[in-house]
Order: sequence, then C-alpha cells, then structure tokens
Amino acid sequence: MRVGKEELRKQIEKYVKVSFGKEISEATEFEVYRALGQAIMEDIAEDWYETNKLYSQKKQAYYFSAEFLMGRALGNNLINLGVLDEVKEVLTELGIDYNKVEDAEEDSALGNGGLGRLAACFLDSLATLNLPGHGYGIRYRNGIFNQSFKDGYQVEKPETWLKYGDVWSVMRPADEVIVSFGDGSVRAVPYDMPIIGYGTRNINTLRLWEAKSLVDLDLGKFNQQDYLHATQDKTRAEDISRVLYPNDSTDEGKKLRLKQQYFFVSASLQDILRKYKRIHGTNFDEFPSYVAIQLNDTHPVIAIPELMRLFVDLEGLSWEKAWSIVEKTFSYTNHTILAEALEKWWVGLYEQVVPRVYQITQGINNQLRGFLAERFPNDPARQDRMSIIQGNMIHMAWLAIYGTHATNGVAALHTEILKHKELKDWYELYPERFLNKTNGITQRRWLLQSNPELSALITELIGNEWITDLSQLKKLEAYVDDEEVLKKLLSIKHAKKIELVKYLREVQGIEVNPNSIFDIQIKRLHEYKRQLLNIFHVIGLYNKLKLNPSMSFQPVTYIYGAKAAPGYLVAKGIIRLINEVAQVINKDPETNGKLRIVFVENYRVSVAQKLFPAADISEQISTAGKEASGTGNMKFMLNGALTIGTLDGANVEIVEEAGEENNFIFGLKVNEIEEMRAKGYDPHVPYNSVEGLKKIVDSLIDGTFNDLGTGIYGTIHRSLMENAPWHQADQYFVLEDFEAYRNAQKRINVEYRDRLSWAKKQLMNIANAGKFSSDRTIKEYADEIWFIEPAKLED
Ligand SMILES: *Cc1c(COP(=O)(O)O)cnc(C)c1O
Repeated sequence: MRVGKEELRKQIEKYVKVSFGKEISEATEFEVYRALGQAIMEDIAEDWYETNKLYSQKKQAYYFSAEFLMGRALGNNLINLGVLDEVKEVLTELGIDYNKVEDAEEDSALGNGGLGRLAACFLDSLATLNLPGHGYGIRYRNGIFNQSFKDGYQVEKPETWLKYGDVWSVMRPADEVIVSFGDGSVRAVPYDMPIIGYGTRNINTLRLWEAKSLVDLDLGKFNQQDYLHATQDKTRAEDISRVLYPNDSTDEGKKLRLKQQYFFVSASLQDILRKYKRIHGTNFDEFPSYVAIQLNDTHPVIAIPELMRLFVDLEGLSWEKAWSIVEKTFSYTNHTILAEALEKWWVGLYEQVVPRVYQITQGINNQLRGFLAERFPNDPARQDRMSIIQGNMIHMAWLAIYGTHATNGVAALHTEILKHKELKDWYELYPERFLNKTNGITQRRWLLQSNPELSALITELIGNEWITDLSQLKKLEAYVDDEEVLKKLLSIKHAKKIELVKYLREVQGIEVNPNSIFDIQIKRLHEYKRQLLNIFHVIGLYNKLKLNPSMSFQPVTYIYGAKAAPGYLVAKGIIRLINEVAQVINKDPETNGKLRIVFVENYRVSVAQKLFPAADISEQISTAGKEASGTGNMKFMLNGALTIGTLDGANVEIVEEAGEENNFIFGLKVNEIEEMRAKGYDPHVPYNSVEGLKKIVDSLIDGTFNDLGTGIYGTIHRSLMENAPWHQADQYFVLEDFEAYRNAQKRINVEYRDRLSWAKKQLMNIANAGKFSSDRTIKEYADEIWFIEPAKLED
C-alpha cells in the first residue's frame, strides 16, 4: 500500500460516507471493516491490472480446486502489504479498536478442512514468490456450516458469508461463460479475489464462479400471474453454486455435486482457452508451454474429458493431437487412500448430466483398454482393474492418472503407500509420473499474523528473512542453551495461552488455568483421526485421579475442535461423548484443579489462529497409514508445540527434522498394522489385558455416560468390539494403541515440569520447521510439475 497515514484516514472516511452515508464517528465496526477493505481494493487495483498483464505473456499455472478455505482476509492483506501498523495507528487515533474491526469479518469458509486450507496456503505462496499461478473454484453462497452444540450434540446452521456481499471480490461480467448440461444451460459469472503477496507488488487471482440462470425471470409465466414457476428455473440454476458439500473424505455420488464439479471446471477451461487464443491464436501446439493445470484431488478431474471436448468439438483438433496436449497440461494430486473417499460416478447419472463428456470418457477408456491389452496381453484381470469404466461405475482416480503427466502424493510416506500399494498397478505402468510433494503451510498467516510475539522474538534473534525463507529458522538452534531465549519462549507461550483463556471465557463461558498443559486436537472429526483414543485416555485419567487424588500430576486442559459431516453418525456420537465427558469432569470438585475439557464450538480458520499459538501439545494420533499428510501438525510445530503422534503422514518428516527426542512418538507403524491385519487383530486382547481399558470402553454402555436414548454410544461400542460385514472390529486400532498412547501422555506430564528442558524442545521444533513452508512446496511444484518461472513487477 503506497498511501500514507493521512491519505489512509481520508480513504476510510470517504468509503464510510460512500457506502454507508455516515461520518466515521458514527460507523459500526463492520462498516469500518468494509471501508478499509474498499480502500485496500482501490489501492491495489493498478498493481493487480499490471500483474495480469505481465503474467499474460508467461506460462501460468491454474490450481483447480472445489475448495478454498481462505479464512479472513483483512489482517493477512494488511500484513502482506506491510501497512498493519499504520492502519492500527490511524484507527487508534480515530478511537476505533482494530481487533474489533478484524472480528467483524466473517471467515471465507469455502472448504471442509485440510484440502481447502492447503489450496489457500498455496495461493499465498504463489503470490509471494511472484509466480504466475492462480486459483479456480466455486463461489458457494453458503460455505461450511456453522456448528453449535445442543445437549452436547452438534447442530448445523447455514453459513452466510455473502449476507452483505463481499468486499474482497470483484465481479467480471465481461468474462461470463455458458456451461451446458444434459438438461439445460447456466451462466457462470466470475468473481475475482486478489491474492496479495508478501513484500511484492504482484497480485495474483482467485477466480470463483457463481451459477446464474440464463433468464432471470420467465416473463411468459410471470405475466400469467404464475409467480412461483416464473422463478423456478432461476432457483434451479443457482442451486449449483448454493452450498458446499460438508463431507470431508467421503464421496456422496450426488447429482448436484457432479454438476458443481463440471460447472466450475468447464467455466475455467473456457476462460483459459479464451485467454490463450487472445494472445496465441488458434494454434494449440504451444498450449502446454503456456498453461499448466493442477487437479486438487479427483473433484476437478472431469476437466480431462472436458478439455478434450473443447479441443475436438469446438476447436476442430484431431483426437490424437488433443490427447497429447491434455496429458501435458494436467497434473493430479492424490490426497487420500481412504476407500470411501475415492470418487466414482454411476454411469447412468454421469451420462444424464454430461452426455457428450460421457461419450468422450468412453473414448478415453477405449484408448486406455487398447493400450493395456498391448502392455499386459496375458493379464485380463489387470486390464479390468485398471479400466476407468468398470461395470457401471466411472473411476475418477484412474482417469486422473491416465490423463495427466504427473501424479503426486502429499507426504513421503503417503507417496510410498500410493506407489507400492494403492496405485501399484499404475506405478508399474508409469513410474516416471509419480512424485512426492510434501504439503506445507504459509508462515505469513500461521506465524507472522497468528503469533506476532513469537515472530518478533525470532526476528530479533535471526533477522526477518524467515518471512519469505523459512529455512532461516535453522539459525535458532544457536540459542538452544541460551537460558534467556528459552525463558522468553516460555513467556510468549504463556501469553498466547492467556489470550486463549480470555477467548474461551468470552465465547464459551468456561474458565481454564493457563498454567495447565494445553493439549490440543483440532481437525475434522473422523474415526481414523482417533479423537476417540484421546477421550478414552481422558476418561481413564479421570478414573485414576478419582482413585489416587494425591498422585503427582501436572494439571492438563484437553482442548478439542472439530466439525463432523452431518450424515456421519459415529463422528457425531464422538462429539457428543467428548461434550458429556467434559460436563462430568469439569463440574467434579475432586478433579477440578487438575483436569479440564473444552470443546471449542465452530472450529474454523480464525479460531485456529488463536489455538495453534497457545498449544503445548499437538495431537496427531491417526491410525498409521490413514492420514495422507496433515497440515495442522505443521502449524503446531511452527508455534512451538510438541507433537504426540503416530508415524503417519507428515509426522514422519516432522520428527525426522526436529528429532524424535523432541516429540512423543508412539503406537503401531504402517507395517505393524498390516501384519496385525494379516494375522487377525482381536480388540478383545487389549480390552481384557490393558489396565483400566475395559472399564473405559464399557462406560459407553454401562450407564456411566448417557446418549439420551439415541443409541449412538452403543453403535460406537459395537464398532470397537464386533466384526460387521462392512468393517472389522476396531478397524482403526484404538484399543491396540491405547497403552502406548497412555505411556506417551505420562511422559509428557512428567517432562513438562522441567520448564527449561521443555523450552529447548520447543526451540528445536521451531528451528526445524523450515521444510514445512508452502513456499518450499510451491517451488517444487513450479520447478518439477508446472515448469513456471517468477515474473515480478518492478518495485
Ligand atoms: C490446518 C487446518 C485444517 C487441517 O488440519 P489437519 O490436522 O491437518 O487435519 C483443518 N481445518 C482448519 C480450519 C485448519 O486451519
């Protein structure tokens, strides 16, 4: 931002007057927030335009994602523009509290969890690195639902971030396109959000599409006084971008979902083709030299047959030519090996929604079958296994691997599992296509913005280069024996805990002791993430403290935050169980000073920014082999929390970097789980032999806890203890890992008391978090998959 303080004040005053017809002294915090947003949008307009012009001559990468979990923009934009302090000063002079202005912004929550947040971190890194890379997605009117609790059960309410419009988006009506389905067409209207890089004039773009009806109103019907039917078409068209599907790692196979996917993919490809033609004409030989498209999971994979359709049907290319361009243009990121998440579409539905794209998908499958018959002539079973269309289902992951030049996993362990197990057939066919790109997070949001105190200490010690080069943090190791630095680390952690205590008091009405260990598990609620293991341990601890009130014990606060998919009953049962355990324990005077349980309502990015900096312990306890990477684990590490975790996803790389001795690794490893499965795992063995475990598990059904007649605790109990046609008893090894987890928790409770030694471990984690910057991840994508180069506006 190049305006000075005086100019800035005038701009805020101007926009309060223009938009709300008021003097600044009369404005609400929300109105000030909006005026500030407008002032920023005006300030960056020129640079945004210039950046687009500069990039249009270069190869550009487009990140296709059904989700972008951006969170709030104001604070992040002010920091990246380098004007946060000035803005705070101006507001203070006007008698306005900046924090309240910041709180007036609703999160932009167009995502479920890690996958959407990764997309948001990637955009920040692309802009900061001056890389020509943009996002394409859907402008959902309602993002992820707002969560509240009633009687301990999750209640979902619609999220309405666009209630008053959105100051960070600019509609671009001139770029509108039409998207056609089997049953009619809709308009796709683009809205652009600026992605402001740190310390650069470059402004990248997130383009989100809104679905609109071709005719706003059917005049014929309206004139016949048929009001309802007159708006019906409009409603049906606009349903497409109405709401984000709230499932994290489950595939619903619903028609509207397929329409959403095709809608944003088709609109984005038409947009890219139009831009390409404007500059390069209709010779598409050079297309892959100017366009790279990353498919974030299988959600946008229908882009592969859609680009074929656009090339063959509309641009008149031969099938062979079109296919060779398509393969070179696209690349695919796999995010999961959970069977229930692998997207498949029923042929009948797919054909109905996108008939021509279905024909092309058949063509692609026939081509693949021909190729497989040549490569594996004596293995018809394998040819069938690798078919995109099998029986009446279309396998989007197979289409993704076949139609792209690169497939990547999101952490080293995950990529190895893909290569040697889940995607073994494909790895043998195309070994050169498989790459690893370990996920990362942006340090601008997750350290500089969320933890200014720790940021200031780091800058004081090693300078500020870490903001754009996180590997600089390694220099902090020089201070590992510096008692003064270690004490500062501890006092910053304490200050962040006190801030969280205040938030919990105000928002949830609960008192928490900042001298207790803050042990935090925040992520989507899923059986594989094993929040159940965590709460089982808490129940056991409570039982033990009741029996031995005088046992030596450092007080602990267990903090949870998680949304469950509305149809995922077991997950909702686990939320209810944690809330009930919290209620019982928090009101028990015998344990009151020692144990406290808090379930933070409506976990989202803005709340995450308060939780990560306040954590002593990061809970990363998924069943080994199930969590592809995780990124919450990285945010904790960067803020000096120690990990209690399994050797899963990026946890493996976290302890590789920071040292196993500075974290608390426990539990079965991937190969041990495989061995147990092979020889037959019986949860009754730990249930009967591990001290205290039987009592904990049975408390689900012996009346200790009460699910208000819903039967959900019984369901959880059966999922642990009984085989069923659709799963093995305790398929996530909660009981088998319980004792190892409890031992790790015991070590934490003892080691926490040696404050200086703990601070050293914190420091070692922070100092070795450099690898987990999304800047590093994005550089790897840019150099090894997209082949794009930086292009920077002159300062
Ligand atoms: C980082 C983040 C996630 C991902 O957390 P994991 O522990 O990696 O699953 C989910 N939701 C929000 C709001 C986040 O900030």
